[in-house]
Amino acid sequence: MADLQALKRIFVEKFGEDDEAIRVFHAPGRVNLIGEHTDYNGGYVFPAALTFGTTMLVRKRQDGQLGFASTNFPEHKHISIQGIVFDKADDWINYPKGIIDQLQQQGIEIGGYDILYSGAIPNGSGLSSSASIEVVTAYALLTLEGQPTDKVKIALLSQRAENQFMGVNCGIMDQFAVAMGKQDHAILLMCDTLEYKHVPFDSGAYKLVIGNTNKKRGLVDSAYNERRSQCEQAVADLQGQFPQLTLLGQLTLEQFNEYQHSISDETVRRRAQHVVEEIHRVLESMKVLEKGDLEGFGQLMIGSHNSLRDLYEVTGLELDTMVEEALKVPGVLGSRMTGAGFGGCTVSLVHEDSVDNFIDQVGTNYKEKTGLTADFYVCTIGDGVKEITE
Ligand code: ADP
Ligand code: MG
Repeated sequence: MADLQALKRIFVEKFGEDDEAIRVFHAPGRVNLIGEHTDYNGGYVFPAALTFGTTMLVRKRQDGQLGFASTNFPEHKHISIQGIVFDKADDWINYPKGIIDQLQQQGIEIGGYDILYSGAIPNGSGLSSSASIEVVTAYALLTLEGQPTDKVKIALLSQRAENQFMGVNCGIMDQFAVAMGKQDHAILLMCDTLEYKHVPFDSGAYKLVIGNTNKKRGLVDSAYNERRSQCEQAVADLQGQFPQLTLLGQLTLEQFNEYQHSISDETVRRRAQHVVEEIHRVLESMKVLEKGDLEGFGQLMIGSHNSLRDLYEVTGLELDTMVEEALKVPGVLGSRMTGAGFGGCTVSLVHEDSVDNFIDQVGTNYKEKTGLTADFYVCTIGDGVKEITE
């Protein structure tokens, strides 16, 4: 996290001195460790909160104004707490405005505040800086207003703000992981029901290294819609055998293996195979991690990537190259794409003594093969949103 004293100095430079105390809150970024394209099929995802995220400094004002500043962006402005509306010209300030809009819709009165954000999460890289700024804002304002801070409700409120105010059609995983994260634990989460469990992920001498392919993602929307309808087609074909079936996630691996021949189209069958096996891999991950078996988890990561490459076909040259190069480095237990695919990030489990070598070797070979420069972030699993008291 950023140096708090330095941030407090920036806060005072922007908003001036005042007797009111400056309070400090923090929400992390997140990464999905395994369980890709399972959420809309009624299956589990397995995200974890990172140790770096968004720090928010906040101080009460008496005049009903809201002051917004960020060390990451130039916009800096005061607005009235009345009449919060989306304004494209406000750029990033729309994210906290969306949260205040949701709080007001719930009848929660928000007073005046000056707010400074400082983010350590690269924006738009798939580590969910948007969920982080949303969740930290909701948690901080509810705390300061003396309201209950139920973190699941905060995740849902933040998702609604992103859906309704920002117009971004995201699911619940990001906000949930950012709100509910726990140090050295992953979260087994069923997105439809919000059934969840913290699973120990004691990474010991291993680090999570996230590699950003920096590949522009053009294909995602159309390919995503096509995959979704292929999953629906698989369900329709399997309903001859399972009349009650509505989602692939309701099938066990054994049931799928026995009746997959009733899916007539081979491509559709392979899509369904990925989904059912990936859900199985998530559950296996929980089991091996509960035994502290990081090597076992690394193998499941590799299986997940291979399935996303060969059966679900959502990887592409950049993600495949990065994972292939990662697995050549000694001290790497596993590596896979994370997120929707076609670009974005990979996540690898790398021994701490190998991290420098990993970044050097994978970066060089990736550039040689794709012409793109990768970025790397070395992470461990941190806590969800909280107040920082010195
Ligand atoms: P991602 O969530 O993958 O990082 P998004 O495009 O969903 O990418 O969200 C990134 C946006 O969130 C930024 O462009 C900015 O508008 C807002 N944001 C995130 N962190 C901060 C921050 N520290 N200060 C100001 N705005 C931020
Ligand atoms: Mg986002």
